[in-house]
Amino acid sequence: NQADLSDDRTVLYDEASFVDPDNNLALMSELRDALRRSDVSLHYQPKRKTSDGSTASVEALCRWHHPVRGRIGPDLFIPIAEQTGQIRVLTEWSIVKAIEDQAALRAQGVHLAIALNVSGRLLVDEAFQARALQLIEGCDADLIFEITETAVIENPKIAAQAIAAYRAAGVRISIDDYGAGLSSLSYLKMLNADELKIDRSLIHDVVNSERDRLIISSTVDLAHGLGMTVVAEGVETEDVFDVLAGLGCDTIQGYWVSRPLPFNDLMRFFDNRHSESEMTIG
Ligand code: C2E
Ligand code: MG
Ligand code: MG
Ligand code: MG
Repeated sequence: NQADLSDDRTVLYDEASFVDPDNNLALMSELRDALRRSDVSLHYQPKRKTSDGSTASVEALCRWHHPVRGRIGPDLFIPIAEQTGQIRVLTEWSIVKAIEDQAALRAQGVHLAIALNVSGRLLVDEAFQARALQLIEGCDADLIFEITETAVIENPKIAAQAIAAYRAAGVRISIDDYGAGLSSLSYLKMLNADELKIDRSLIHDVVNSERDRLIISSTVDLAHGLGMTVVAEGVETEDVFDVLAGLGCDTIQGYWVSRPLPFNDLMRFFDNRHSESEMTIG
């Protein structure tokens, strides 16, 4: 069912079953097996530079293809995995998988940084940190950690230490979903990051809303002043792309550039759309 997998829509098989806590627990007990059976996969969405149209990096987004329940989207199972602690296994698996896929891309002459989503809970988990650094060390990986669920960062001291350790290991740090939460500015103070991703909620109205354009251009100035590059996420149309490029966003991500792609389709994306000279190391 390759065709089915390349269609990126995530479908809720049975909504009612997911509100049932017993069912969620059952689902989570299946996750470890699912990873082993490759029922979970990483899809990759390109992040395109506005300056020259090259691909700066790709974001890994996990998909769970459940044998009985069908496609289960990350918006559904990531929060449950966070509650049950399974997020650690999942994220460690995704680090290993991304490093493996990155090496396969390199073997084809495609050099791309890979961005992984790391929940705020894991950022302050010292056992996870030790394991993650162990997985990354010595394998010449080019990774970005997108820190999600930042509202959960209760321990700024440990978060700052973790970020310093990851950056020392060559991992770049990105603040995900910026502007979606209420206290985003405090995370700029707290997290020493390389990249800021402006949330889709601030992006989609940009053609019609002068207010949103003002917020974005000020955010771009702020981020650049702090030494960060700016990514606009959820860009679905060319006119939105043009406005955001004009406002100084460095990188654009969204369906207009590409949907998240299964690994094999990502290879084809580069075969079709880019000559070797256009590829850059993000
Ligand atoms: P995110 O990191 O902010 O990822 C962006 C989400 O927006 C993805 O949804 C992506 O498929 C979707 N998207 C991309 N372009 C567009 C667009 O143009 N329009 C619209 N409407 N949506 C677009 P997805 O893959 O369902 O992931 C949802 C969230 O789940 C992610 O948000 C991230 O927070 C989390 N997530 C996904 N994979 C992982 C993972 O491996 N680990 C962790 N911890 N979280 C993950
Ligand atoms: Mg992300
Ligand atoms: Mg995001
Ligand atoms: Mg999100």
